[in-house]
Amino acid sequence: MNYSIPYGRQHITQDDIDAVVETLRSPYLTQGPKIKEFEEAFAKYVDSRYAVAVNNATAGLHLAAKALNVQPGHRYIVTPMTFASSANCIRFCGGDVEFCDIDPQTYLMDLAKLRTMLESHPNGYYQGVVVVDFAGYPHDIKALRLLCDEFGLRIIEDACHAPGAYVVDEKGEKQMSGSGRLADVSVFSFHPVKHIATGEGGMVVTDNPEIYERVALYRTHGITKDPTRLNKNDGGWYYEMQQLGFNYRLTDIQAALGVSQLRRAPQGLERRQEIARRYDKAFEGHPAIKTPWRAENVYHAFHLYVIQVPDRRGLYDFLRANGIYAQIHYVPLHTMPYYKELNDQEGQLPVVEEYYKHCISLPMYPSLTDDEQGYVIEKVLEFVK
Ligand SMILES: *Cc1c(COP(=O)(O)O)cnc(C)c1O
Repeated sequence: MNYSIPYGRQHITQDDIDAVVETLRSPYLTQGPKIKEFEEAFAKYVDSRYAVAVNNATAGLHLAAKALNVQPGHRYIVTPMTFASSANCIRFCGGDVEFCDIDPQTYLMDLAKLRTMLESHPNGYYQGVVVVDFAGYPHDIKALRLLCDEFGLRIIEDACHAPGAYVVDEKGEKQMSGSGRLADVSVFSFHPVKHIATGEGGMVVTDNPEIYERVALYRTHGITKDPTRLNKNDGGWYYEMQQLGFNYRLTDIQAALGVSQLRRAPQGLERRQEIARRYDKAFEGHPAIKTPWRAENVYHAFHLYVIQVPDRRGLYDFLRANGIYAQIHYVPLHTMPYYKELNDQEGQLPVVEEYYKHCISLPMYPSLTDDEQGYVIEKVLEFVK
């Protein structure tokens, strides 16, 4: 049998197709009722008060940074183990980025190292952090909030990998990934490799009404028709552009798909857990394979299943030759020419640099069959003797 197995892919059902077709036949292709329905359902799912649907997570991160008033002269500390957008959103607003090394177990931003960075400068030197719930492993957002409050920092949580993930805190309460309770603002993606797919798409969530208002205003050109906010009112048609905003809207067609996908999200997460357990078991105790860390009080969303092996390049090539398209997440952001030119930190973040030499993301998505996973396991074990 010939296999062709990607590292991640969307799962589209007949219900999804029907939902999209229904919207295509409706009066609204954009700015209709499906946007609101998707926003409300999603806010509830991640335990946030407000949600704003956007055309992709990169735009969402830009809006998050705009809403926090990031501007030239501001400094944000960002994890280097992420996709470019997590740091780019600060640059879009003219702010500066410094990277903080990761924890060797969770691969999330190392909060001890973050503290060291914060303590080595006077208060006010940094304005905020961008953290990522990498691979679907949620940050201990309570600990992060306490630390950030100590130094007066804002938190942007890039939760693109982790819708549905949570940490159970010491009181037994679930702290959902991307919940608006503790981060100032969080962002999710609906790119096809993520948990919920709308083609392109994203969501910005927060519990803070001012941040919500700003995100919503900037999403739609900085234009408002809200009579309570107008400087004057010429009549029913009248609107004002009050800020230099963007068109970062999601369409109703996509929102319809999002609503339908969101209904199945818990099932998808359970299937991801099952796949992770089987990988864990297959590689358990293998001296050359390091499997993902899992803490007792964490529900991992497993966007990615990352292992570390001695000969990563060899394994990557071997798997490809066998029709398994594993991926590398990520090339550390501080080694990108663009960021090196701004502030060269290469050689200063040893944990992430070592991790990058060995990491590889194995296929992980709900529609991966048992047979396909068995083949992936067989090929990994065949190579990593
Ligand atoms: C996918 C992803 C993004 C970008 O999402 P888009 O919707 O493609 O713009 C940003 N950050 C992280 C961590 C991601 O995984």
